[in-house]
Amino acid sequence: MSQTEVSTVTPPLVPLGTLIGRELRSENVEKPIIRYGQAALAKKGEDYFLINPDCHRTPGNPSTSFSVFAIFDGHNGISAAVFAKEHLLNNILSAVPESSSREEWLLALPRALVAGFVKTDIEFQQKGESSGTTVTLVVIDGWTVTAACVGDSRCVLDTQGGVVSDLTVDHRLEENEEERARVTASGGEVGRLNVFGGNEVGPLRCWPGGLCLSRSIGDTDVGEFIVPVPHVKQVKLSDAGGRLIIASDGIWDALSSEAAAKACRGLPADLAAKLVVKEALRSRGLKDDTTCVVVDIIPSVHPVLPPMTQKKHHGLSGLLFGKKSHNLASKSSKLSAVGAVEELFEEGSAMLAERLGKDFPMNPDSGLFRCAICQVDHPANEGLSLNSGTFFSPSSKPWEGPFLCANCRRKKDAMEGKRPIKPTFSI
Ligand SMILES: [Zn+2]
Repeated sequence: MSQTEVSTVTPPLVPLGTLIGRELRSENVEKPIIRYGQAALAKKGEDYFLINPDCHRTPGNPSTSFSVFAIFDGHNGISAAVFAKEHLLNNILSAVPESSSREEWLLALPRALVAGFVKTDIEFQQKGESSGTTVTLVVIDGWTVTAACVGDSRCVLDTQGGVVSDLTVDHRLEENEEERARVTASGGEVGRLNVFGGNEVGPLRCWPGGLCLSRSIGDTDVGEFIVPVPHVKQVKLSDAGGRLIIASDGIWDALSSEAAAKACRGLPADLAAKLVVKEALRSRGLKDDTTCVVVDIIPSVHPVLPPMTQKKHHGLSGLLFGKKSHNLASKSSKLSAVGAVEELFEEGSAMLAERLGKDFPMNPDSGLFRCAICQVDHPANEGLSLNSGTFFSPSSKPWEGPFLCANCRRKKDAMEGKRPIKPTFSI
C-alpha cells in the first residue's frame, strides 16, 4: 500500500510595519510556499526518506528557516540509510559558521554538503558495518534550490515554463564513463558478472564488491574508491516557482525524467507523488523499492497553481519567453537560456582538493586549525593542509588549501587510491 503524507507550510502573518522595515533593509520578503507529498511502495524495505519543511539555521529564529527533502536508497541492509538519515543534516550544518548571513550560508552550502557527506561516511565506517546507501538531499531556501547526491536517486526540476531538467547526476558505472575512469584510476576494476563459462551478465559493476554505483555513503567492504563526495547543483528559480520530483531508482528504471514530470502535471503534490509511483508500477511492476517525494515551490502572492499541464504551457510559454520560446522545444536547452532558473553552482568532482576551497579558519590565539571535514579543532602539528606534502617535508606552500586532521587526510588519500603512508620507526 502506498503511504501519503501531505502538509503545507504557510508563512506566518507579518505586521505591515515589519514588512516595510524588511523592504527597507532589502531583504527578500516573499518567500515561496512549499507544498509536498510522498508515496512509496516497498519491495525490500531499504528506502528511507527525510522531510523537514521547517528547519532553522539558528534554533528558534524563523527568519533563518529552510526546507530539506531527502531520499536514502539502502543496499546490503538498512543501517547506512538509517545512519545517514539521522546524522547527515547535522553534519552539513556543522560545516557552516553559525554567524553566517543568509547570503553567506547559501554560498557556503555547496562546500558544507561535501564536508557533511564525507564526515557521515567516515562516522558510519567506524561502526564496522557493511551496508551502503544512495543519498539525494535537497535544501530549499527561498527561491534557491541546492541538490546534492551520491548514487542514483535522481532529483528532477520541472519549471513553470515546462522545461524538465535533472539537478542530479546518476553515479552508475554503466552510464557514467567519467566515473568508470575515476574508479579504475583509483585501483578498482570495472566489469560485468561472469557466469556459465565466462558469459558476462548484468550491468557494469566495480570489483571487489560488485556494486553498480560509483558513489555512496557506507559500503565499507567494497573499496574506498566508492566515494561519498556528492555532485552538487544550486539554482535559483524565477518567481514563477517550480516542482521537484525526488525519487529512488525504482521510479527512474521505469520512467524518464520527462515522463515522470509530464505524468503528474496539473496535480497537487500529494496526488502527483502517488501518480508517479503508479505510473512506474504500471510500466515495470514492483521490482525494487519505489519512493517518490514531490515538492512544489509556489509564489505566495499568486493563486496556488501546480505546474501547468503540457497543453497549456505551449501557449503561455510563448507569451512569457517571447522569441526564446523555441528553446523550449529543444530538450538540450539549458535552463538558464529560457529564463526559468538562474544556475548558481555546479560541481561533481570526486577530488576533495577541488571541492573544499582554499580558505580555512584558524584561531590565532590558540594555534588551532579546524578540520574542513570533521570540524574538530586540532593543533597544527596533528594534521596537514590538504594540498601540502607531508608535514615533516612540507611543500613550498605548506598551508595552501583547507586543513584536514590526520584521520580525514587518511580518508582522502584512500579515496584517491593512494596507499596510506605506513609509519616507519627507527631504533
Ligand atoms: Zn577531520
